Amino acid sequence: MGTETRLKKHRKKIVAGNWKMNNSVADGVDLATSVCRELADFLDVDVVLCPTFTAIKAVGEAVEDSHIKLGGQNMHWEASGAYTGEISAAMLRDLYCHFVIIGHSERRQYFHETDETVNLKVKAALAARLVPILCVGETLEERESDETENVIRRQLVGGLEGVVLDGTCELIVAYEPVWAIGTGLTASPEQAQGVHAFIRETVASLYDDATAASLRIQYGGSMKPGNAAELFAQPDIDGGLIGGAALDARSFVEIIRAGKPGTSNADV
Ligand code: PEP
Repeated sequence: MGTETRLKKHRKKIVAGNWKMNNSVADGVDLATSVCRELADFLDVDVVLCPTFTAIKAVGEAVEDSHIKLGGQNMHWEASGAYTGEISAAMLRDLYCHFVIIGHSERRQYFHETDETVNLKVKAALAARLVPILCVGETLEERESDETENVIRRQLVGGLEGVVLDGTCELIVAYEPVWAIGTGLTASPEQAQGVHAFIRETVASLYDDATAASLRIQYGGSMKPGNAAELFAQPDIDGGLIGGAALDARSFVEIIRAGKPGTSNADV
C-alpha cells in the first residue's frame, strides 16, 4: 500500500494565530472579538489564538462563548519554582488554554532552546493535558545543503523521545521552514507537501500507522489569504500556524475559511 493510502485519514483542519510579542490587551481583545464575530457560524476548521501571556485572560473572556480555543506561545517544563520570568503548563491551564506552541524557531534561535528542552516541555504539556504544537523546520542553509530531512528527523526524534502518544492525548506538529517565517517567502505547496509527508512517515516509524494517520500537521511560514488554499489542498497539510497575517482579523479569517472541507484534495 502506498504512503498516501496507508496514512490517509480525514483530519479536521486546525489554524492557529501566533501573535508573538504584539498587541496590547485592548488591541488583542478587539482582534479576538472580530475573529469570533466573523467565524460565529463557521465550525469547519478548529481555530486557536495564541496571545501574549498578558492578554490571555482578557482574550479568553472575549472568546468564551465561541468555539475558538486559546494557546500559550511557550511554557517551562517545571510545575513551579524559582524560574524568574517563566510560566508553567498548569498556569496556562488556569487561564483555560488548551494548546501551547513548543520549540518555535524564534525560541530555538534567540532563547537557545534545544531538542532536549523542547522534549521536556512536550512531556510537561501532555502531562498537564495541554495539546503541544511542536514546531520543526530547517534554515535556508540547511535546505541548500540538502539537510532538510535530517534536521526534521532529528527534531522529531529528539522532541518526541519518551513521549507516549496512545490516542488519549493529542499532539500537533507544525512544519515551519525558518527561511519562510516572517520573510514573505513561502514554501511552494509541493515543497511543503514533501516535508509534511516525510514528517508523517517519520511519526509512523516512531509510533505506528494509526498515530501517523491521525496526526495533524500545520504549515507555517508567510501564509496569507493568497496562498492558503493551495497549501491546504495538499494531502498532508492539515492547517496552518500563522504569524503576521494573524494580526489582521480579515486576513486571518480568510485563511481559516480557505480550510473549509471540500476545497482540499485531502478531503476527497
Ligand atoms: C510563525 O512565526 O509561526 C509564522 C508562521 O510567522 P509568519 O506567518 O509571519 O511567517
